[in-house]
Amino acid sequence: MEDPITFVREKLPPRIERLADLAYNLWWSWHQDARDLFKMFDYPLWRSTGHNPVRMLLEVSPERIQEVARDPLFLRQYDAVILAFDRDMGNGHLWARQNYPDPTRPVAYFSAEFGIHFSLPIYSGGLGILAGDHAKEASDIGLPLVGVGFLYSQGYFRQHIPPHGWQEAVYSPLRIEETPIRPVLDPEGRQVRVQMSLGGRLVQMALWWVQVGRAQICLMDTNLPENEPWDRMLTSRLYGGDRETRISQEIVLGIGGVRAVRALGLDPAVWHLNEGHCAFLVLERVRELVARGWSFDRAADAVRETTVFTTHTPVPAGHDVFDFPMVEKYFHDYREQLGLTREEFLELGRTNGPTGPEFNMTALALRFSAYRNGVSRLHGEVSRQMWHVLWPDRPVEEVPLFHITNGVHVPSWIPGPLNRLFRKYLGRDWLERYDDPNLWERLDDIPDEELWAFHEDQKRKMMAFIRERARQRRISGEMDPDQVLVAGAFLDPEALTIGFARRFATYKRATLLFQDPDRLKRILHNPYRPVQFIFAGKAHPADDAGKYLLQQVYTFAKDPAVGGRIAFIEDYDMHVARYLVQGVDVWLNTPRRPMEASGTSGQKAALNGVPHLSILDGWWDEGYNGVNGWAIAPLEEGAPADQDAHDAAELYRLLEEEVAPLFYHRDPDGVPRGWVRVMKEAIRTAVPYFCTRRMLKEYTTHCYVPAARAAQEWGI
Ligand SMILES: *Cc1c(COP(=O)(O)O)cnc(C)c1O
Repeated sequence: MEDPITFVREKLPPRIERLADLAYNLWWSWHQDARDLFKMFDYPLWRSTGHNPVRMLLEVSPERIQEVARDPLFLRQYDAVILAFDRDMGNGHLWARQNYPDPTRPVAYFSAEFGIHFSLPIYSGGLGILAGDHAKEASDIGLPLVGVGFLYSQGYFRQHIPPHGWQEAVYSPLRIEETPIRPVLDPEGRQVRVQMSLGGRLVQMALWWVQVGRAQICLMDTNLPENEPWDRMLTSRLYGGDRETRISQEIVLGIGGVRAVRALGLDPAVWHLNEGHCAFLVLERVRELVARGWSFDRAADAVRETTVFTTHTPVPAGHDVFDFPMVEKYFHDYREQLGLTREEFLELGRTNGPTGPEFNMTALALRFSAYRNGVSRLHGEVSRQMWHVLWPDRPVEEVPLFHITNGVHVPSWIPGPLNRLFRKYLGRDWLERYDDPNLWERLDDIPDEELWAFHEDQKRKMMAFIRERARQRRISGEMDPDQVLVAGAFLDPEALTIGFARRFATYKRATLLFQDPDRLKRILHNPYRPVQFIFAGKAHPADDAGKYLLQQVYTFAKDPAVGGRIAFIEDYDMHVARYLVQGVDVWLNTPRRPMEASGTSGQKAALNGVPHLSILDGWWDEGYNGVNGWAIAPLEEGAPADQDAHDAAELYRLLEEEVAPLFYHRDPDGVPRGWVRVMKEAIRTAVPYFCTRRMLKEYTTHCYVPAARAAQEWGI
């Protein structure tokens, strides 16, 4: 097997051959100058390939290559980018070198999905994007990290909405050769494999990797001719299939993942479980130690002290559980290697569910990690209550589960013009210091007109993007004329525009806004202060309740009386998300408290000066300070219908009395100065506190460093 980068490199003249290195390292995706370089390389191709440099280099004509290799402007940009790239790949960043004990022993970060760039569809939503942001930030601060996940051969689905509004899922095969994913090769040039037993069958996994700056992500793939057809499907789709598929996937992720790390020759000091899907990894690590002659209890202690577990959902159905017979079927032989009886083994994941005892992946993870956290302050509290059952002897506030609030990776979520604005007013090195709150005192130096002009520009770009997408879908025959209207053709670039984009899960209450249709229509069509809404989001393919909510939104948006003031953008992904969080005026979030563990899209919006209007839940419960957006204090007692009525009334009131008047109150020069003040406060709180850098430094200080020391002490 050949490393595909060789082929691409050979296509390029030596003067620009390092474009291949750039294309195969997703570092480019969060460095504006590198993105600009690819844009200059061949703009039409950049667009038609969906911002995919690997595909672009494969498809570009030899004439174009010769042309850019002689273009002084291109070459100047090329040299600057390569210089920055090499500096970053070297030892540019000191923070982790000074703060993490052993650079040769990485943190192994397991996650069922990684959202790095939209050209690599191995993520579905928030959890995956958080994992991608974690990897990027590890690279930025110099923390050694190896991610472990799946190569989904069909990725996550693309969403198509037919006229009746019931979402359809379209799967298409991932063409690996058109991605920066490369095979892990042994010295003889063969792809490295690992194998394991799955309910008595032998399953093989091929290993791939993708480079994210200095971080590496190892991806496993069971789609091999040697495997049984049903095993080949295991890594085809994210979160697809029945319980049997699910437990098999999780065995591959957890147990196979540890073997993959070993096959790569890596020796992690710390193991971080991003959600319970990968929790079986703790068993495999215990098994390794037991095989070395350790007792089960001693091995369990050592594994616990070197394991970090992050739980992400306060929704009980969000925690994976398996019934005992299924666990016994898959772990019968395995538990004998651990020296455990059936009862002892099942105890490791036991909780009492509504239908009796069951094996709960979160419980397993909690029992085998010394560092356990929720993802916002409120979610920490809720999780302590939820998991009090595992520590019944302690008062609930002493349940050993704390919180580290999520953040977003700043350079990935802001556009070039905002980067330039911050460089101009905060200093050329602002990207090195943005988690320092003091830096943001200088934000007031940005003249209101300039920040407002930036925002209006982003809003126009978003509108152009939305219209163009609708036009393309109309041309290709995917949309009837009615749908073009819902797709945003009538959006008004001057009107107050509110974005609501996220997974259509019932607790997120996408239809809260439609509680009182007449009042809503009055808000939409206010002759002095019109308001419009942009919705986007996918429902999980197995979640009919979510699809039903989506259909309700879609049907309402199609109502002629709405007049195109509610748009629904199909196929929400990181690309659409970027345009929306940068281009709308307000970001709306209406979950049922306290179901939103953190929420991150509102953080992305706030970085861009798009204030949050949200139920006080997740990160907003600690992020809201009275001047940086708007908050709805939800009705906590009472029936769900009463809560909905109360929260909706409060939402309408805020829109009518506060948000719209402030937005439309302009100075003679057209700048809404009161509004710009809220924009600045949103930026000032979001960037330093709700960024991945602050988050990752907390993980490092509170979890990775003590866990890495424990690894040294245990000699593992
Ligand atoms: C950020 C993001 C999410 C997560 O949004 P939440 O507000 O946490 O629900 C989901 N999908 C995409 C494409 C995103 O960019």
